[in-house]
Amino acid sequence: MIRRALAALLLIVPLALPPALSYAQLPTLGDGSDMTLGAERKLGERIAREIYRDPDYIDDPLLAEYVQGVWEPLLAAARKRGELNPDIDERFAWEIMLVRDRTVNAFALPGGYLGVHLGLIGLVASRDELASVLAHELSHVTQRHISRLMSQQSKQTPLMLGAMILGALVAGKSPDAAGALITGGQAVAAQTQLNFSRDMEREADRVGYGVMTQAGFNPQGFVTMFDKLQQASRLNDNGAFPYLRSHPLTTERIADMQARQQMDAKSGTVIALTMEHAMMAARARLLAEPGVDTLRSWVSEADASTFASLGPARQAGVLYAAGLAGVKLRDFAQANGLIARLTALTSADAPAARLTRLLAAEATLAAGDAPRAAALVDGMANREPELLLSAQALIRAGRAGEVVPRLQDWVALHPRDALAWLQLSSAYAAQGQSLRAIRAEAESHAARLDYAAAVDRFKAAQDLMRKAGASGPGSDYIEASIIDTRTRQLESLLREQAAER
Ligand SMILES: [Zn+2]
Repeated sequence: MIRRALAALLLIVPLALPPALSYAQLPTLGDGSDMTLGAERKLGERIAREIYRDPDYIDDPLLAEYVQGVWEPLLAAARKRGELNPDIDERFAWEIMLVRDRTVNAFALPGGYLGVHLGLIGLVASRDELASVLAHELSHVTQRHISRLMSQQSKQTPLMLGAMILGALVAGKSPDAAGALITGGQAVAAQTQLNFSRDMEREADRVGYGVMTQAGFNPQGFVTMFDKLQQASRLNDNGAFPYLRSHPLTTERIADMQARQQMDAKSGTVIALTMEHAMMAARARLLAEPGVDTLRSWVSEADASTFASLGPARQAGVLYAAGLAGVKLRDFAQANGLIARLTALTSADAPAARLTRLLAAEATLAAGDAPRAAALVDGMANREPELLLSAQALIRAGRAGEVVPRLQDWVALHPRDALAWLQLSSAYAAQGQSLRAIRAEAESHAARLDYAAAVDRFKAAQDLMRKAGASGPGSDYIEASIIDTRTRQLESLLREQAAER
């Protein structure tokens, strides 16, 4: 479906963007009736915790870094423009969660959490297009649209609201799964209640457009993305575009967009496809777990007669998809051949060459050659994909001692990085430091807001200290005091969580 939509997308009409649209049309609620920031954040955490637990939640360091590279400039621009006030900035999570789903969707949740389907990353043709969607969703949060919707539902308890949002999310993912959380008519009700008003959508378009252009993204990305959605909406492609269900293209929104088009001097510029973007979009499509037949067809595209006629960026996308598909099919000889072609193609483009090296290391590690995989990545590069891939390779190669200090430094700076905590746990375990391994595992659960699992692991660590006595791991006094402190902190968070129910 996405491929069909992609074909339709090539018809790009330059649209343009906004004279300032009226902000005053928004329904105003009594000041006291808005949900407090703290309550909204708590509700967001409850929903985020469920998403982290969902098997379709995906923590891929490369895609996460790519999306973060779009998200952070947007946040900075929203701050600069005063859309993101210091209070909300500090209290909210501002975290993006990737969902392994081929459909095109992005959604804002309470408390500054944002969900992005891999299908959206696989569809967009540039960072600028992705930025236009993220800026729109960001604006729903900064304009407090969610809290206004929540306030309108003030008779519901927050738990009910959380369950309704989750129900709507599940319903958005797969119509058959809707019953898992909410049955029948309730799911439909939840979805309609969660829909932002038309005025909110227009405001998110207006504010989002300002934020993305201030962040330095090409306004044409907003225009081409809008056009993609319009094409899909004409094709009535609701199955592949759940985004259209929550963001209907009303005549007002389309008119606003056309007004922006006339105002915007840059609207004629065409955004060139970069190798880096083509490769990341290919990765998103691959990690959305297509079937074996699709993987095979992607491998064969690299040898199709049409390949030579593609521009270099498209060729890089095809070779990346084919190489990674080869790895998934465990056809390593073929994958290596494809990666060698990709290496030659991308050698002069630094970001693309980096992605190629990482793919080569991923393939080598999957093929079982850990020492060579470790040699392919620069584990000292201060970037998460390199750090985690080289840590994995070095641990498997029996060199866990080298990765421990790097990972310790990393989690000190990024305490919410669950994957890094898990790698650190494996590194400690490989060195026989079981107490530290359990503690790092506990921290990985805490990072995903699963306080019950975290407390369980911290208690296991305390038990281990007690049993081992003065000669065993319990003699590690610094570690012991960290474990005691963190156990108390997590227990208190767990009690708070239980009290909310
Ligand atoms: Zn919206």
